[in-house]
Order: sequence, then structure tokens, then C-alpha cells
Amino acid sequence: MVECEQGSTIGIFGGGQLGRMLVQAAHKLGYKAHIFDPFDDTPAGRIADKQTTAPFEDKTAVELFANCCDVLTYEFENIPIAAIEHAGRFTRVFPDKKALQTSHDRWVEKTFLRDKARAPVVDFKAVETMNGLSEFVREFGGQAILKTRRFGYDGKGQVKIRSLRDVKAGFARLGGTDLIAESFAPFIREFSIIAARGTNGDIACYPLTENVHKDHRLHTSIAPAGDPQNVSQEAQKITHRILDALNYIGVMGIEFFELKGGQLIVNEIAPRVHNSGHWTQNAGCTDQFEQHIRAITGMKLGNTTPKQIIKMTNLIGDEILHIDALSKKPNTFVHDYEKRDIKPGRKMGHVNTVIGVC
Ligand code: AMP
Repeated sequence: MVECEQGSTIGIFGGGQLGRMLVQAAHKLGYKAHIFDPFDDTPAGRIADKQTTAPFEDKTAVELFANCCDVLTYEFENIPIAAIEHAGRFTRVFPDKKALQTSHDRWVEKTFLRDKARAPVVDFKAVETMNGLSEFVREFGGQAILKTRRFGYDGKGQVKIRSLRDVKAGFARLGGTDLIAESFAPFIREFSIIAARGTNGDIACYPLTENVHKDHRLHTSIAPAGDPQNVSQEAQKITHRILDALNYIGVMGIEFFELKGGQLIVNEIAPRVHNSGHWTQNAGCTDQFEQHIRAITGMKLGNTTPKQIIKMTNLIGDEILHIDALSKKPNTFVHDYEKRDIKPGRKMGHVNTVIGVC
């Protein structure tokens, strides 16, 4: 059932590159797009039909924005829950606030994954004191990953505790409160599943995406990835349980660790389109941005079977200066986010290269 007629307006909290690619998808499907962002001149706002520039805390602006939109979504998860809650009084918001609340806090997220979605996760414990951390480290083989519960991404807000001797410094470095200790997962590779759930409960998963990180941020993704340990079916089953347990609507990225022997562990979930799903744009299937718009507007989900194998590489900082040369290469598709300022470590664009056929 299509719940948003052609020409309806889709509101997007956040004007970064993910918002921009959602705007492009909305336009392709015949919708208008309205961005809400605290900064003006954003990559998404520049190509949207409209941008509201206001802080997320500005209730009047959120209300006006929500009243202009037939359905709302968001492109990053650090949006204050209060903004989503307030917007939800005036229009529909997908994914709903439960998904956002779950992913906002790593302890809440891991507890949900373990207890509600029956998904495999590392051992973990909320940590408030140095003694608590020492106990955890002792219990789990003398090492741990210590993370802030909130606002961590791309490896920010995490330290590896290699032995009891690291406890004091690690605890102090992360501020000593609102922390989570995780046991160390001895993975042999990291992969993600990008999946969508529609308003009727249908679920469509893309095939495994193998991810390689550099300096704690995603560097390259290859999809469809090989599956020598035959873990794909199990990963999809876990994905279904997570999406159903949240009664989720939209696209989600789920990050997995794969261990020797084929055991899987879910590291985290992102209730939005995901960097590791950018390969879908040039693989001959419905891309993740169109899929998200389809899901939140009540359209039938698109085809998730790629025709081509893609390697996606992020362009970080001044790597974007090479786009002219890159776009002249065969089988290469460059996506420039048109950010005004080049900054070290900033995601400026990505390149999808066709490396084979499926
Ligand atoms: P995160 O910020 O949770 O996405 O973690 C960033 C990266 O740190 C992951 O992609 C892994 O490479 C590594 N990492 C995070 N948690 C663990 C863990 N419990 N065990 C081993 N490596 C981890």
C-alpha cells in the first residue's frame, strides 16, 4: 500500500551526504524533499526543495517542519530524541523513536540485541567505577574494549584495554562515567548486512558486504562478498529478528564480526542508510537510498540482488581532489558530496568500481 502519494514531501533531519543521497532518491521516485539542519548551505539542503535551518532543540521550527512533511526520516543517529518525539506529534517518523533510543546508547543497544532480538553479542557490562572495569577485565581474559555509551562513532570514544595496567588510563581517557566494557571479539573479518523493512513488515536484505576499516573508519566495502564459512543465511536470520523486534520501518545497517569457525557477533546497528551500503548505487539493484524512501512511503521494496560486484572506497579529506582522474577510469563511478571545505578525516565522496559480475 502506498501511503505517500507522488508529489508528497519527505522531511529529512540532517543535511549531510546521506541526506543528500536520500534527496536524490526521493526526487527519482517523484517526491519532494525538505531538509532540517542546524547549519545552512548543507550538501543535502543545496539540492533539496527546501531547507529549514534551526537547532534540533527549536520546538517551533521542528513543529513547522513536521507540518510541511508527509513523512519524516533522519540521516544520522545523534539527533536528540526530543526532536523526533516532538515531530512525531505532527507527522509520521520512520524509523520511529524506539530504533533511535536503542542505538543512542551502546548498553541499551547490546541489551536489546541480546534479550529482545536473540542476536549474538560480546559479553558487556555498564561501567561506572575503576573497580568495576578491573573486575570485567579480569573476568574476560585480561583485555577489553572500553567505550562511551553515547555519541561514539567511527572508533571515537573507545580504547582498547590490553591488560589490567591499562585500566586507570583508559578509564580516565573516556571520562570515567557512562561507559561500557566489552569483551574483545577475535574476528577474522567484519561485514555488514544492509536490510530494509517496509510498512507491511516485508523484509529485504542485500548480500554480505565485507568492510575494511582504516584509522577506525570505513575505508572500503566489497559486495557481494565471498562467504567461505557459509554465514550468510544465519546473518540474514539475525537481521530479520532485529528488524522485527523493533517493528522497524526503513533501511538499517547491521555490523557483524565473523569469527573463525563461522560464529557471528553483532557489533552494532545503525537505524539509517549506511556507508557500507553505498555500493548498491552501481550494482544494478535498487540502491539503499531508494529502498529507504520506498520503505518509509509504503511502496513495495525494490530488488536487492546485485548484477555486479562493487568495491566502494571512501574519499577522505583531500583524496577528493583526485576525482577528475578517477572518473576517467573505466567501470568507475564517482560520488562527490560537494562539501564546501576539505578537512582531514572528513568523508568527501566515494568511488564505486565494478570489479566483476555476479
Ligand atoms: P564501533 O565504534 O563499535 O563501531 O567500533 C569500531 C571498530 O572497533 C569496529 O569496527 C571493530 O574493528 C573494533 N571493535 C569494536 N568493538 C570491538 C570488540 N568488542 N572486539 C573487537 N573489536 C572491536
